[in-house]
Amino acid sequence: MTRTFHLPGQAPCPECGTLLDGAGWASGIDTGDAPGVGDFTVCVDCLTILRFGPGGTFARVTPGELALLEPGMRKVVADGLKFAAGFREFRKATKN
Ligand SMILES: [Zn+2]
Repeated sequence: MTRTFHLPGQAPCPECGTLLDGAGWASGIDTGDAPGVGDFTVCVDCLTILRFGPGGTFARVTPGELALLEPGMRKVVADGLKFAAGFREFRKATKN
């Protein structure tokens, strides 16, 4: 991931309830645009792979949806997971 985007609102992760208010572009596909409905993201707390839904909501990505991704996109998702895991460690280390 290269840059992050501060979302206009907050919405809970459907898996763990953490309020998510930002996202990062995966390296190589940084368009500079705000994330749109259907774009992938990863919860920085529980590392669940999510999609942006309508109205700033998030939905879990099913294993079936992941299986349908082309290998290049699967790598992008894997890189996003790695970034989110690193960011989670950073957040833990800098808390308090
Ligand atoms: Zn979560």
